[in-house]
Amino acid sequence: MGQQDGQALMELVAGSRSQCHKGKVADYIPMLAKASAETLGIDLHKIGEKNPLEAGDSTTVFTMQSISKVFTLILALMDWGEEVIFEKVGMEPTGDNFNSMVKLELVEPGRPFNPMINAGAIAITSLIKGASPQTKFKRILGFIRTVAGDEKLDYDREIFESEVATADRNRSLGYFLKHNHFLEGNVEAHLQVYFKHCSISVTCRHLARMAMIMANNGLDPDNGKEIIPKRYVQIAKVFMISCGMYNASGEFAIQVGIPAKSGVSGGIMAIVPGKMGISVIGPALSNKGNSVAGVHLLQRLSEKWQLNMF
Ligand code: GLU
Repeated sequence: MGQQDGQALMELVAGSRSQCHKGKVADYIPMLAKASAETLGIDLHKIGEKNPLEAGDSTTVFTMQSISKVFTLILALMDWGEEVIFEKVGMEPTGDNFNSMVKLELVEPGRPFNPMINAGAIAITSLIKGASPQTKFKRILGFIRTVAGDEKLDYDREIFESEVATADRNRSLGYFLKHNHFLEGNVEAHLQVYFKHCSISVTCRHLARMAMIMANNGLDPDNGKEIIPKRYVQIAKVFMISCGMYNASGEFAIQVGIPAKSGVSGGIMAIVPGKMGISVIGPALSNKGNSVAGVHLLQRLSEKWQLNMF
């Protein structure tokens, strides 16, 4: 990507920065509240390009939060295959908040509607193969390191502890799943793995590379090696479109038109199939839980570079 693209990206970031004040940094996990509402950064990684394009506060370190759910889903699919996984979780959006329990009693009690809401992601985390919670997390971290291309990635202890101390709602989801046989074993141990993968620290560069690998159907363009089977990239992209942006996924699909997953830390990972991976960070969130300036920036970028895949 050339100098002109870099300039254009800088201008787009400058144009979206004014949106930051419209959002609010998440504080239900107390340590997340330390993030700056003014932060806005972006990284764009084209398939085959050595140097991703960055603008704004792209070197900000933040935790993956819900974005990690995409990779635990993929790893669980790689461990068990589609049939087993979709016995435990559904394929439909809820239209409710990410941590909602409202629909858990509907249709089939205890069966989460999809793997992107907390209930579904906790069920999926419990299925990751491994003899102990430590092994399970090690496998998740190892997989995320491979996709991100950084063997040094690790989880943020402070944010992890902060979530452990305040996760009554997620705990109640876990026990409800267990009561209904959609999760087996020690609920607290599964939750610890879940909180750890939500707490993995990244920058936009990592997430853009992860999205780039998915844009390339799971292949590492440097060596042609398959990191993720194409079928599982396909499944993940469907969930990203239908429920990756919480209960604003329809709006995002109309305005931006690419598969994306956001997290309450303000990160968004977006895929332009066949072309590139994009990641933004902007901790000030809308009432639906998405980065206000980040979505604004992606919308402008999509319009300017015609990224909408519909
Ligand atoms: N760890 C967060 C939670 O379970 C993730 C939520 C999110 O990013 O949507 O509440």
